[in-house]
Amino acid sequence: MGFVSGLWDTFLALANTFRLADALDVLLVSFIIYNGIKLIRETRAEQLVKGIIILMLVYAASVVLQLNMMKTLLDYFFNFTIIALLVIFQPEVRRALEQIGRSKIGSQNWFQFSSEEVEKLQQQKRKCLNAVVDAAANFQKTKTGALIVFEMQTKLGDIIDTGTIVNAEPTVPMIGNIFFNKAPLHDGAMVIRDGVIYAAGCILPLTKSDNVSIELGTRHRAAIGMSENSDAVIVVVSEETGQISIAVNGVLTRNYTRETLKSALEALILPDNAGEKKQSRIPSIRRAKK
Ligand code: ATP
Ligand code: MG
Repeated sequence: MGFVSGLWDTFLALANTFRLADALDVLLVSFIIYNGIKLIRETRAEQLVKGIIILMLVYAASVVLQLNMMKTLLDYFFNFTIIALLVIFQPEVRRALEQIGRSKIGSQNWFQFSSEEVEKLQQQKRKCLNAVVDAAANFQKTKTGALIVFEMQTKLGDIIDTGTIVNAEPTVPMIGNIFFNKAPLHDGAMVIRDGVIYAAGCILPLTKSDNVSIELGTRHRAAIGMSENSDAVIVVVSEETGQISIAVNGVLTRNYTRETLKSALEALILPDNAGEKKQSRIPSIRRAKK
């Protein structure tokens, strides 16, 4: 009984000193832990976290049983863990920080454009989207390989630097010309910025994921890699099969037709929808075989 009333007293004492800032503190930390766990579950970190937990248990055992050599070894290991994790998970950490930047606060349009400018940009993006859809449908028929990156909020200057600036109006003949297999710029990726064909012949980072079907080569791996490293939306047409795919957030969805490609791209790219872009917005199309 005394124990219970002691607990109650402690609780009351804590409640009396509880400030609004403490509630905020608890909320923020819970939010970070929740998102941390979500991130771990969605990435390859899950196995690694299990490994670290096992090592922590071994460490606890070595303290209790006074296994001094083991404890010293693990002390050294844990000292370097944070740096090692930052190196191993550089793409994930980068993506997480970018997601914070893209959140409602981070993506506020601090330098407000006039509604006329916004409308003009919207029209340009729609025109570009239509040209890409028509060009992709042509490529599907002619089995012409293509790799088209729509830049979103993450700026892709470093990727653009690897190719050639084109800065051309998006038209079907122009896109056809770039990916024509004897044209100098057909190799590599085209980057679209603000509804304009901004660059071509760009080199994208390849995904390091082991979960990609072996039938997919470097063009598709480059699309997935780019989508892991940014919020870009990437359209791929296979030279081997003519199949159209989209890579977003590290996931490749395949087997698009002209119509499904158009509606998927509209949901992902046009400004009305882009803020709440989600994988789930892509019409249900068979995912790439793992
Ligand atoms: P496909 O189905 O079209 O054959 P694939 O996924 O099998 O595609 P590959 O056959 O390896 O891929 O395609 C090679 C082409 O992909 C290259 O000629 C080049 O145009 C493009 N490509 C390969 N790697 C990259 C990269 N890192 N960045 C941009 N483009 C790339
Ligand atoms: Mg191939």
